[in-house]
Amino acid sequence: MTAERPAPISDLKITDVEAIYLRLPQVKQQCDSGQDALIVKVTTDAGVVGYGEVDSAPMAAKWVIEGPFSHTTATGLKHVLIGEDPFRTEWLWHKMYRANIYGGRRGVGLHAISGIDLALWDIKGKALGMPIWKLLGGGFARTLRPYASSLFGATPEETGERARRFVGQGFTAVKFGWDPMGQDARTDVALVREARKGLGPDADLMIDAGLVYDAKTAIQRARAFEQFDPYWFEEPLSPDDYEGYAKLSAASPLRIAAGEEESERKSFVQLMDVGKVDVVQVDLTRCGGFTEAMKIASLAADRGLPVVNHGFTTYLNVAAALHFLASVPNTLGLLEFVVEEGTTLRHSISEPIAAVDGRVSVPDAPGLGLALNEEGIARFRVA
Ligand code: MG
Repeated sequence: MTAERPAPISDLKITDVEAIYLRLPQVKQQCDSGQDALIVKVTTDAGVVGYGEVDSAPMAAKWVIEGPFSHTTATGLKHVLIGEDPFRTEWLWHKMYRANIYGGRRGVGLHAISGIDLALWDIKGKALGMPIWKLLGGGFARTLRPYASSLFGATPEETGERARRFVGQGFTAVKFGWDPMGQDARTDVALVREARKGLGPDADLMIDAGLVYDAKTAIQRARAFEQFDPYWFEEPLSPDDYEGYAKLSAASPLRIAAGEEESERKSFVQLMDVGKVDVVQVDLTRCGGFTEAMKIASLAADRGLPVVNHGFTTYLNVAAALHFLASVPNTLGLLEFVVEEGTTLRHSISEPIAAVDGRVSVPDAPGLGLALNEEGIARFRVA
């Protein structure tokens, strides 16, 4: 970028950008992205270190960050960051976007930018002794209502048992997703029926279909599920089927939620303006970080739409979501909160973020407000 550099607002300089790939010894064929993680670590000359996370194809994102200097519009992102002032998050976002413009306007390139942007905001907060929500000018909420985010059981009955367990743990909202939904109408309806039975009449129930239907089938399912009073019906269609989402949203008695596959604000505009979804799901580790998420939330607010977070990875993602959701007016007051504990990675790399009395507090400690466990990171690091 050729913009004139204004007078520095801080004395910090970025000295290193690292993408750390963590992986359990055995990664199973299951829908749990907590089995591995790509953590971004940005170091400054003042000793302030920021962390972020990327939820993507991990090694592809690592090379977007750490790859060699190639030429001005296709280069490893670290080369355009080192020596720069980490406080200039907006300017650095655009510098990264331009440095990565062949491969990075969507998808893995944007995912990589996301993790770095989170780490830069973490540095700003730590350097100033302030939580990120305050730097973003927020404070709309100090706590959020977590919904237990889980997978369907192998059978409808097992799904009902899980539902009873989560309500017993104090959750007032629960989401079930993916397999075995999508096999046939009878099973799909039984899964939702047993989920509702297990939850009882009061808890909110979200259904995450897992990209399994065409628009007509999704409309049939939305109508069949309505009797069980779901709060939203998430990702029934392929993310590129924006026209299908439009048909579904027009015909569905249920709120339609989507957005976790999107990166960068213009793809969210397409989802909102063409797809006509009702709930906009923003993953801070994919969409472009805080810098982009705040714009997405603003675009959603202009359309009268709420944003929610998406996150199925580590507590870095949860912490980022808490700061974001506390900083925008158009939320549902809900927080996606993973309860799948089939893996140890999530609990080995940082202090846990816990639900207390059915609420999760927005961190008040500086930056993301999450203490990472360097030993745990070293233990699971493979690249
Ligand atoms: Mg989902």
